[in-house]
Amino acid sequence: MLQSNLAFSVLAAAALAFTSSAYAAPPQDNVVDGQLYPQGRTPAKIENHNYPTTYYPNTELLGSEEMRITALGTGMPNPTKNQASISYLVELGNGDKFVFDIGYGAMANLYALRPDFAKVDKVFASHLHTDHVGDFASLLVGGWLGGRYTPLHLYGASGSKPELGTKAFVENTQKTWAWDIAGRSGALPDAGGKIIAHEFDFKGINQVVYQKNGVVIRSWPAIHVLDGSVSYSLEWKGLKYVFGGDTYPNKWYIEYAKGADVASHELFAPPELLAKMFGWDMNQAIWVATRIHTSPQAFGKVMSAVNPRLAVGYHSIQDILSTIAINDGVREVYGGNLAIATDLMVINVTKDNITVRLAIVDENVNPPGASREYLEAKRTGKATPSKFIEEGKWKEYTPPPMPKK
Ligand SMILES: [Zn+2]
Ligand SMILES: [Zn+2]
Repeated sequence: MLQSNLAFSVLAAAALAFTSSAYAAPPQDNVVDGQLYPQGRTPAKIENHNYPTTYYPNTELLGSEEMRITALGTGMPNPTKNQASISYLVELGNGDKFVFDIGYGAMANLYALRPDFAKVDKVFASHLHTDHVGDFASLLVGGWLGGRYTPLHLYGASGSKPELGTKAFVENTQKTWAWDIAGRSGALPDAGGKIIAHEFDFKGINQVVYQKNGVVIRSWPAIHVLDGSVSYSLEWKGLKYVFGGDTYPNKWYIEYAKGADVASHELFAPPELLAKMFGWDMNQAIWVATRIHTSPQAFGKVMSAVNPRLAVGYHSIQDILSTIAINDGVREVYGGNLAIATDLMVINVTKDNITVRLAIVDENVNPPGASREYLEAKRTGKATPSKFIEEGKWKEYTPPPMPKK
């Protein structure tokens, strides 16, 4: 009884707060260093790498030569409550933001960070498996609702035939979500609903696929199921991050990931565990773990050759048994710095320091806010149903009047 009274009074208070502010002017932009921050969050400068133990999004300013890498998804093709499918967000001290893969479930973690979505406009896809691009449409629409008023750019490789490439994926995404995109016309900025495909040759060896604002992103081939899977490096101000995507250990990664401050690479569970988890026989488990993907020992061997300041492994479910087995396997062959990634692991990187932490995020979040540019961006058309549907409106209900312009 006490509980239900409490719930009632909380609801009543919330209703009161809503009534009194429902038609109030929108709050001023909370812009710091050219980035939009959620109301009530003031980022602070971190001196001498003195980071708090936990990362609370939007409370820390990045240094002018600092990179922050946040794991948005680290698990398997079936997203779980704790681990979405693969995705990383890379934020730079110059304000640039890059998303590497956006697998199923990753958008919830990205959204929970409440970034300035106007700046989250570039995705680099390692390949077109659902566990790497499944939430792309969710970012298209969620980012558009969240503050992006310019097109979303998708960078990715060609395939063995045109219909298997990134350009076709973008065209098909636009067709698949035509109803959704058309339905938001007039309400959301026109340009925010568009996708621009940047397809490059999957065979390119350490080729530059992006260069702007002092940032250079290169790609090289990965070995994974079909042609069209790639790995990336991002270089900026002498810092280098490598995103491996999915790949069997390959010669290009060994060569071009060298010199990385943070090198990430897939790190699958050992075959015995895969057999148990998926009900496979050992033949299939060994095939998947060591011929299609990268086992802990193989990952360790790759990282021993690349020798990054920090090696990051991902793409396995982090239950205690798996984590121990994976860690033990890697440690048979690699003694360097290692982070087995889980969702919302945050890595701050500067020339002389790397700090690995976990983020704590709000579970119920609203968009970070709308910038002046977003509110003023061009909107044309107006989505409406047909006369037939309009005439089905129940005559006994009258909505409140629209406010005067
Ligand atoms: Zn894959
Ligand atoms: Zn995968």
